[in-house]
Amino acid sequence: MSISRILEKPCLDRGDLMQLLAVRGEAMQQLWKKALAVKLEKLDNHIHLRGLIELSNQCRKACLYCGVRGPNRKVARYRLTEEEVLACAQTAWQLGYGSVAIQAGERNDEPFTDSITRLIEKIKAIGNGALGITLSLGEQSEAVYRRWFEAGAHRYLLRIESSTEELYYKIHPHDGLHDFHRRLDCIDALMATGYQTGTGVMIGLPFQTLEHLADDLLFFRKKDVAMVGMGPYIPHPDTPLYAHAAQIPTAGERMNLTLNMIAILRLMMPEINMVAATANQTIDPMGREKAILAGANVIMPNLTPNRYREEYLIYPDKACVNDRPEECFSCLETRMKGIGHEILYNAWGDSVAFTKKQTKNNP
Ligand code: SAM
Repeated sequence: MSISRILEKPCLDRGDLMQLLAVRGEAMQQLWKKALAVKLEKLDNHIHLRGLIELSNQCRKACLYCGVRGPNRKVARYRLTEEEVLACAQTAWQLGYGSVAIQAGERNDEPFTDSITRLIEKIKAIGNGALGITLSLGEQSEAVYRRWFEAGAHRYLLRIESSTEELYYKIHPHDGLHDFHRRLDCIDALMATGYQTGTGVMIGLPFQTLEHLADDLLFFRKKDVAMVGMGPYIPHPDTPLYAHAAQIPTAGERMNLTLNMIAILRLMMPEINMVAATANQTIDPMGREKAILAGANVIMPNLTPNRYREEYLIYPDKACVNDRPEECFSCLETRMKGIGHEILYNAWGDSVAFTKKQTKNNP
């Protein structure tokens, strides 16, 4: 079937997805253009910001692709103090970002989970609840997810990394600590708790095929998630998966595949929030703009104090590692205007898909 015919279909099946993922050249431009048109129609040209706070690189996990995996002894481990996190949140509020996203390696111990509850409560007090809070703190018990939700966090990002169990175990140790079904259960628990739940995958992994990526897209739709964050896989030399770096697609190819994934998902789920991940900008200086023009609508400017950023290198050569928040702020404003988009300040920027579903379920 021609690309034009597929793009007109109301519901894309697995075969359509495979065909769309493989498009290049003019057909690819046609796909991105259609995704942009759908986004502008449903969500306008608005961009939502989440001030990213990389709280800690301490991690009990050993994901085979991640630079801050626990066993990597080359990383100096850090944890921001409560004062440092609150200063970042103040900056977010003063710059009008509307939301913060707190991300860290995975820890489940009580001192950690309790400290997060306290942090959430204190961030909520800034500007009387002015800031929305997204968490990305890995797998936790349902009780912990609930405690953090009740303290005031309302969005949570937990990437499935791959929705295919077999591929999941090629990029994670198969040791009980890394458990595909537990990760799925965590996503379900987050949704049941009431979070706007986001998930996502890396694109261009060793062993990954177009079939895997098509199944990832179907997984997002089946789960009916409120947000998705996906970006290219970037090999880190101090990780086991680096041994397979020679077999992955080129950076340009990973970028095209990522943009196709974003564009196709925008057609499948027109009203979800989708992040233009920093990884896009790392492999292509215009990667963030390209992601926005292919259908993404959320950007996460980094607010982590500069002296810690070199230690949160989940992948090498991360973009914007040396930028200060004020520089980021004006740079983003100019870049988004340049591509006809408008940053919405002082708004939480919730997922329209989620808000509509909630209204429908609780009329
Ligand atoms: N610990 C939390 C978790 O597991 O959800 C959040 C932090 S984790 C470092 C954030 C994300 O970084 C992961 O979900 C993964 O997709 C991404 N990531 C890690 N290593 C990467 C790499 N080498 N290239 C691209 N993305 C990577």
